[in-house]
Amino acid sequence: MSKPIDIPVRVELYDHLNEWEVNTGEQGKVVPRRMKGRYRTLKNYGMCVWLIYFLMPYLRWDNRQAILFDIPDRQFHIFAATIYPQDIWVLSLTLLFFAILLAAATSIAGRVFCGYFCFQTVWTDVFTFIEGKLEGNTPFKRSQFTAMPWTVMKLTRKVVKHGLWIGISLLTGLTFSAWFTDAYQLWGDVLQLQAATPVWVALAIFTFFTYWFAGFMREQVCFWLCPYARLQGVMYDQDTVLPAYDATRGEPRGKFTRQATDNKGACIDCKLCVAVCPTGIDIRKGQQEGCITCGLCIDACDSIMDKINQPRGLIRYASYKELHQGKKTISLFKRPRALVYGFILLLSVSGVIYGFSSFSPTEFTVTQQRKPLYIRMSNGDIQNKYTLKLLNKTDAVLEIQYHVSGLEEATVIGLDKTFKVEPGRVIPITAFVRLPVYMQDESNLHKIEFVATAVNNPEITDTYESVFITPP
Ligand code: SF4
Ligand code: SF4
Repeated sequence: MSKPIDIPVRVELYDHLNEWEVNTGEQGKVVPRRMKGRYRTLKNYGMCVWLIYFLMPYLRWDNRQAILFDIPDRQFHIFAATIYPQDIWVLSLTLLFFAILLAAATSIAGRVFCGYFCFQTVWTDVFTFIEGKLEGNTPFKRSQFTAMPWTVMKLTRKVVKHGLWIGISLLTGLTFSAWFTDAYQLWGDVLQLQAATPVWVALAIFTFFTYWFAGFMREQVCFWLCPYARLQGVMYDQDTVLPAYDATRGEPRGKFTRQATDNKGACIDCKLCVAVCPTGIDIRKGQQEGCITCGLCIDACDSIMDKINQPRGLIRYASYKELHQGKKTISLFKRPRALVYGFILLLSVSGVIYGFSSFSPTEFTVTQQRKPLYIRMSNGDIQNKYTLKLLNKTDAVLEIQYHVSGLEEATVIGLDKTFKVEPGRVIPITAFVRLPVYMQDESNLHKIEFVATAVNNPEITDTYESVFITPP
C-alpha cells in the first residue's frame, strides 16, 4: 500500500467550492491564487506586449513622434510613412489582417488572445496582483482580511490599493491620448491643466472604465459584455486545442490517500485548478464559455501531478478529437478553415506591403468645369476651365510647376508661376486652356495631360489625364 504523500496544498481551503463553476457574478468575487508555471510565464510575456502601448508614443522619428494619429490634420504618421485619408485602405487592410489573425488563432488554439493579450484580462491580472499582495491572494486570506476590524493597517492597505488602481487607470487614459497628439507636449499640457477638452474627456472615460472594469467587473466583462467571447464558439471545431481535463484518466476522482489505496483516477480533487482560475471555472466540468484558455489550471494541475509522481497533462491543451475520439489532431495545412484563414492573411499582408511600398509622395487631381463645358471667345478660340489640386504627402514644402501636354497649340493661362505647397496641404489652382479656332476638328473631345513637377525635388512628378471639350 502506498504511503500518503504530504502535498503542500491547503486542500481544505478550496473544499467549500464544490459547486464552483463559471462565475456569473452571483457567487461573489473570484480570488485567484497565483502560482508559477509554464503558462503563467507565457502569460507574463504576453502581457509585456502592452508595454508597446505605454512606451511607443515617446519614440521619435525624424524629429516627430514615430507613430502619431493626427486627426486634426488628417494624417497618420507611422515611422517614415505618412498616411492620408486617400491611403486609408492600407490601414483598413492592416485591421483586416489582425481581425483574421484573431479568428485564425481562435480556430487553432481557442481564446489565446483573451488568455494572454486582451487588455481586459491583462489589466485585471495586474489589478488582482496588487490586491492579492495587499489583501491576501487566497479566498481564506481574503476573508480574514475582510473580517478584520478597521485598523490603520487595513485602511492604509485599502488606500494604497485604490491609489495604485487609479494611478494605472490615469496612465492608461493619458497614454491613449498620447497616440493622437505629441506625447511630450501632452504631459506638459496636462500637468499645467491646459490640455484640450478632448484630452480631458478621453482621460475621464478611460480612467473610469479601466478602474471599474479591471478593479470590480473583471471576468464579468468577458462573460456579459465582450462580443468576441460570444463569437468564439463559431470559430472552434473538433481540432481546436483548448485547456481540457482528461476525465478518462482523472475519474473517479478522490483524495490522495484514497486514490493511492483504492486505485482511483489521477485527480486527487485538490481543487487547485479551480483556485487558480481567474474566471472561477472548474475545468473538470468540461469546456465552459467563461474559459479564457489561459492555461493557468494546467500549471496548477501539473504541479500536483509532479508532487504525487504522476505524469503531467491531466489538464492539458488538447482537441476534442484527441480527448473523446482518441485521434490525433490533424495538421494545420489539412484543415480547410486554417487554409482559408491563411489565404486571407496572405492576401491582406501582401496588400499592406504593396500599399506601404507604393505610397505616392503626391496626390494630383484635375477637375474640368462642367458648367459651362466650354466658352467661345470673341476671336473664335475655345476655352475650358480646370481646377488643379495637388496634395503634398511629403514632410517638405514642394515648389510645384505645372504644364500641359497633348494639345501642343493650346494656350495655358494661370500656370505660369511656381506654387508652394506645404506638407499635408492642398492648394487649389484655377487654370484656363484655350484652343485656337484653326485647331478645332470634328472631334469634340481632346485628350489633355496636366503634369505637376516639383522644381525643388525633380524626382517628384505626377500627371493627370483630362479632356478638352470643344463644340460638336
Ligand atoms: S479553466 Fe483554466 S484555462 Fe480556462 S480560464 Fe480557468 S484557468 Fe484559464
Ligand atoms: S484536476 Fe488536478 S488540480 Fe484539479 S483537482 Fe484534480 S488533481 Fe487537483
